[in-house]
Amino acid sequence: MMIIMKANATPQQTEAVIASVKEAGLNVHLSQGVEATIIGAIGETHSIPLERFEGMDGVDIVQRITKPYKLASRQFHPEDSLVPLDGFHVGGDEIAVIAGPCSVESRSQIIETALAVKEAGASALRGGVFKPRTSPYSFQGLGEEGLELLAEAREKTGLPIVAEIMSQVQVDLMVKYVDVLQVGARNMQNFNLLRAIGETRTAVLLKRGLSASVEELLMSAEYILAGGNNRVMLCERGIRTFETSTRNTTDINAIPVLKSLTHLPVILDPSHSTGYSEFVAAIARAGIAAGADGLIVEVHPDPAKAVSDGRQSLKPEAFAAMVKQVGQIAQIMGRKLATVQGEYSKNGWA
Ligand code: PEP
Ligand code: MN
Repeated sequence: MMIIMKANATPQQTEAVIASVKEAGLNVHLSQGVEATIIGAIGETHSIPLERFEGMDGVDIVQRITKPYKLASRQFHPEDSLVPLDGFHVGGDEIAVIAGPCSVESRSQIIETALAVKEAGASALRGGVFKPRTSPYSFQGLGEEGLELLAEAREKTGLPIVAEIMSQVQVDLMVKYVDVLQVGARNMQNFNLLRAIGETRTAVLLKRGLSASVEELLMSAEYILAGGNNRVMLCERGIRTFETSTRNTTDINAIPVLKSLTHLPVILDPSHSTGYSEFVAAIARAGIAAGADGLIVEVHPDPAKAVSDGRQSLKPEAFAAMVKQVGQIAQIMGRKLATVQGEYSKNGWA
């Protein structure tokens, strides 16, 4: 932490700040120039609020030198983290393509979608079973029955499964079934949920909140990492802006920004980012070109009949065309699409 004194600060004021830094258990590095006096506070500063020094007489600016998200930050972990999913890793050279319906609706719907997205080159299957709907009267998801159907689809295709968890009371149930716990945008700052997921060792896809900054997303990731679960992937899914021609606004900038700030893999959701199926492939291509480590895309065999998010869901043929395009962009970027290795059975992947 760096404490910059005002130009007219008295030696007594500087002494008082130094004493307070020492009292906080930190070491002092004093730099006294002609124009400014800077007090470096060295040690475990993360739990010490800036306000402790900001209000002291003679203090001009107090700044942290290290990021407040120390586990998520690249500062102390410069190399990329790879998140193992059974069969492949997310991050590094490989690009994960997670695809499937917004909601699991029926056995035939999820099995048909799983087979189609696998055939098209997807590396994981998504499907919501607990749905965060704006209206309490909308379809809320099939719950455990939906998890059973996802598990059956995994057995048929070998695709690892991704499903959203909405509450910490669902942790035990969800980890029994899924390979990746999705934390939805609306729960990005549900800190009790994040802590509970931090206690598991199941991979997590943490989506950015509707109006959350990049730093807030990283602070939420920190909650999970602090619990000892380091299998965290971040997801840009569009943010709220003044623009109404799309459902959300894809913050493409967030991809290279996150890649520079954190070692965690970054996934782009072009479906919720745009809200319209006709824009999904364009934004998926942009995301991979911008350096994303993967995509999560909504696919439905009959989008017009989908119980949720049909308007942004791709038909399997459109998804297959999109995968071909992003595969080519991946190649230009010196990467390739991940493929699931091995066969899945009741005992796991062989
Ligand atoms: C979803 O993935 O279906 C979903 C609800 O996403 P988000 O939390 O990004 O709105
Ligand atoms: Mn959805």
